[in-house]
Amino acid sequence: MTVHHVDTLILGSGFGGSLLSMILARAGRSVAVVDRGRHPRFAIGESSTPLANTSLNALAQQYNLPELRPLTKYGTWKQSCPDITCGVKRGFSYFGHSTNYALRDGDQMLVAASGSAELADTHWLRSDVDALLYRQAGRCGTLQFQGADYTLAGDDAHWHVEGVANESGFKLTAPFVIDATGTDSAVLSHLRVPSQTAVLRTNSRAIFGHFTNVATVNSMLQERGVDSYRHPFPCDAAAVHHVLKNGWMWQLRFDDDTTSAGFVLDNRVSETHTSPGRGASVEWNQQMQTCDFLQQQFRSASVVRPDTGLIRIGRLQRLTTQAAGRNWATLPNTAGFIDPLHSTGIAHTLCGIERLAAILLATDHREEKLNRYSAQIIDELRHVDDLVEGCYAALPNFRLWCDWCMLYFAAVTSTEQTNTDDNTSFLHAGDERFRDVVSKARSRLRQVTKDGGTSQACDEFENQLRSLLQPWNHAGLLDADCRGMYSRTAAPA
Ligand SMILES: Cc1cc2nc3c(=O)[nH]c(=O)nc-3n(C[C@H](O)[C@H](O)[C@H](O)COP(=O)(O)OP(=O)(O)OC[C@H]3O[C@@H](n4cnc5c(N)ncnc54)[C@H](O)[C@@H]3O)c2cc1C
Repeated sequence: MTVHHVDTLILGSGFGGSLLSMILARAGRSVAVVDRGRHPRFAIGESSTPLANTSLNALAQQYNLPELRPLTKYGTWKQSCPDITCGVKRGFSYFGHSTNYALRDGDQMLVAASGSAELADTHWLRSDVDALLYRQAGRCGTLQFQGADYTLAGDDAHWHVEGVANESGFKLTAPFVIDATGTDSAVLSHLRVPSQTAVLRTNSRAIFGHFTNVATVNSMLQERGVDSYRHPFPCDAAAVHHVLKNGWMWQLRFDDDTTSAGFVLDNRVSETHTSPGRGASVEWNQQMQTCDFLQQQFRSASVVRPDTGLIRIGRLQRLTTQAAGRNWATLPNTAGFIDPLHSTGIAHTLCGIERLAAILLATDHREEKLNRYSAQIIDELRHVDDLVEGCYAALPNFRLWCDWCMLYFAAVTSTEQTNTDDNTSFLHAGDERFRDVVSKARSRLRQVTKDGGTSQACDEFENQLRSLLQPWNHAGLLDADCRGMYSRTAAPA
């Protein structure tokens, strides 16, 4: 059996592991990637954002990876990679269904992220995208082992992997390992790094799959005589959110006429549904029955991916106490995860790759930088937790849900539209003033919800938020004239 000695060993070949391996290989480092699974395979986490595309573009430029550039915009993607399925994402669409009556004007919010389809973000069909990046990483010179059955051993000096892939035995040794295994957290488990999930406030679960024949929201609005003339972009060309009493549903449309859809439910109000014996489809159908609109929208729909049917994940949130050490590091999605809300996962993973690539390709102060990386990733995940949890706390009040989303949009649009030192942290996590605003807003939200979320209390909350967010609000967020339709939020071309 051949023993391969490499500079860096990466466990996990999702888009994160493959991309980091491409960067290291193109920079002349020897790198091996080991995955338990095999491409192409179903993966969730599909909706990208302008922030994600800015990071991907920066990586392509900085590390001489022009093959990544087409993936940063819908127009170039369709032109250069027509076989890799994606969907057009012009922004974020929200529809409130807490009353289960026909949608009214106030039950809609659309936030633009791009000025045209050509420049738009994309939904990634992850089985296609991850397989593409895996192939590209191989072409860059990454040693690859997929479908691997292996054992990991490590000490202060070296990591060792021994296993079987494609019916052949393999052995790898490396001085440094990256854990890109996501939920599995192979290295964290091996090192017995304690979890600190208990500090997280968001507490949600998900049931999801890919469907055919999901009616468009726009056709549903037309059927119900609800005007869409004020929409700044076609509302289905977006990450669509249907906001319910006990959670929400995402809908992401791909160009092959399939739709990724999933319920994300607040465990704090839906605890009774978590009994392990209940099948995913049973709970899916129960949720559907709580909303006429969704029932109608899915009346002809059926699951097409994954082959095994709907997937249900219990509590989604997890957080480690350490995200890197002297001779190891995790990607953000291994260090922790909060929620699909606000689509932060892909952008944060790319941000983590930017930082780790810089650390691994430099020769100085590695240990010190890895310690900083670890603290920063954990702090950013806690910040995302704060930005997400308030939305659940606002339920079932759609207006307050949309108001809380403005904290995320203020962070993301001010990062996209300005170029300041604050941008070195993800969504202004490192900006104490911004963190303080989130904390103040949360206290006020607590008061408004306690008082029953009356229309007058919501007016006051919006006035307070408008004033708190003013330093980061370059996009007309909370402008009363917009009446929930935001077009100035589009990232600059
Ligand atoms: C329900 C849900 C919805 C989401 N929606 C969004 C969204 O809309 N937008 C967004 O930006 N983010 C979203 N995310 C987050 C997103 O999924 C992650 O940020 C993203 O998948 C991270 O990619 P990755 O390559 O780091 O890890 P992963 O995609 O988790 O890849 C891990 C890889 O490791 C392999 N592996 C697992 N265990 C082992 C092991 N022991 N050894 C070796 N290999 C192993 C797996 O086969 C896989 O290939 C969502 C997450 C969830 C749970």
